[in-house]
Amino acid sequence: MPPDRRAERQAALRVALEDEGLDALLVTHLPNIRYLTGFSGSAALLLVRSDGTVLITDFRYAVQAPQEAGDAARVEIDQKSVWDRLGKVLTAGPVGTMGIEAQALTVRDAERVAGLTRARLVPATDLVERLRAVKSPEEIAAVRAAAALAQDALAELLPAVRAGQTELEIGATLEAALRRRGSEWHPFPTIVASGPRAALPHARTSARAIEAGDWLLLDFGAQVGGYCADLTRTMVVGGRADERQRTVYELVQSAQRRALEHLRAGMTGREGDALAREVIAARGFGDAFGHSLGHGLGLEVHEAPRLAPTAETPLPLHAVVTVEPGIYLPGWGGVRLEDDVHLGPDGAELLSDGRTDLLELV
Ligand code: ZN
Ligand code: ZN
Repeated sequence: MPPDRRAERQAALRVALEDEGLDALLVTHLPNIRYLTGFSGSAALLLVRSDGTVLITDFRYAVQAPQEAGDAARVEIDQKSVWDRLGKVLTAGPVGTMGIEAQALTVRDAERVAGLTRARLVPATDLVERLRAVKSPEEIAAVRAAAALAQDALAELLPAVRAGQTELEIGATLEAALRRRGSEWHPFPTIVASGPRAALPHARTSARAIEAGDWLLLDFGAQVGGYCADLTRTMVVGGRADERQRTVYELVQSAQRRALEHLRAGMTGREGDALAREVIAARGFGDAFGHSLGHGLGLEVHEAPRLAPTAETPLPLHAVVTVEPGIYLPGWGGVRLEDDVHLGPDGAELLSDGRTDLLELV
């Protein structure tokens, strides 16, 4: 059995609340609730106070919530309204200053909360997210397992890929392999982008049929124990890469390699991003790399920290992030290579296989 971290996570959160001068935090962002209690359902409110933790959910989770939360929270099930129940729980406890998750709570729900309590409400952001950015060994192992699963699904797909197939057909084969191999869900819509559509960084998989010599970009994820992996591979289908394809590919590959080699905890997200961006910009493709280098990975597929030109916070030790440089040339296509790493004391440790040799599926 892996160690149960929930009590230690809640203790760390209580220290953060004290630092912020908060008597309580109303947690409404579901991945944060899962992190603190283990509850994985789709509707809940979590109240964290110095004297205890209350999980409020509804009839659908009457069995699941106590099972998953165990000792990590007192569970209250409300047949009618979780908000009414929150009001009762708040009224029964001491009144003070309560943080609300400003990054997650809608204005409507914030007004609802204000109507339930005489506590002073204070917008608080990223208190739980900051804790989540530092991964435990079990969390790192879960991302690694998800990445291995994703790679196995890709290995199963590749021999079946042919020119003439549509992006949707390829996406269906890949997604079926992911599920069959144990992925709990697709953490984000699978991107299958071919030919000139590979120039769309967040392409929607379409009915376009692949032509010989096209780029095929696959960006896909897997989820194991709630934790996500996120991989991108770009290849040529139905022929050999031409000279320009090879040049652009090798540039993205060398940018990724430089980042993987030099990325360190303690750097700012901007410095991490620059490791790859400098390589691409030096060859005149800076404007064709229009997104950030990477993002944190965990219970969510995009979480803290970020590797981006605007990210001035230092990358924490034991963060898990993606490293995904790309070059996108409208009308021609694009290349992105994405791997997942753990920022350990010795630098970036690959959690995915980092195998990016150019594939030509002929
Ligand atoms: Zn991705
Ligand atoms: Zn990504």
